[in-house]
Amino acid sequence: MGPDQPPLSSGGPACPFCGSIELELISPWGGQLITSLVRCRACGTDFEAIRDSLAGPCSPAPPGEQA
Ligand SMILES: [Zn+2]
Repeated sequence: MGPDQPPLSSGGPACPFCGSIELELISPWGGQLITSLVRCRACGTDFEAIRDSLAGPCSPAPPGEQA
């Protein structure tokens, strides 16, 4: 019945520590396949964000070597 919107309507991941959305991508692959390693520019904390929030539906991009 109510408005069906997520708590964060900015459409992207936010820092779980300070709530900032100014995130810097450190590694496209985190500890899990669905996570990416990012750093919060506000508080400087590294954490893993769900890739599904960063990009669209699962992109078949392997963590391969780029020549
Ligand atoms: Zn932060």
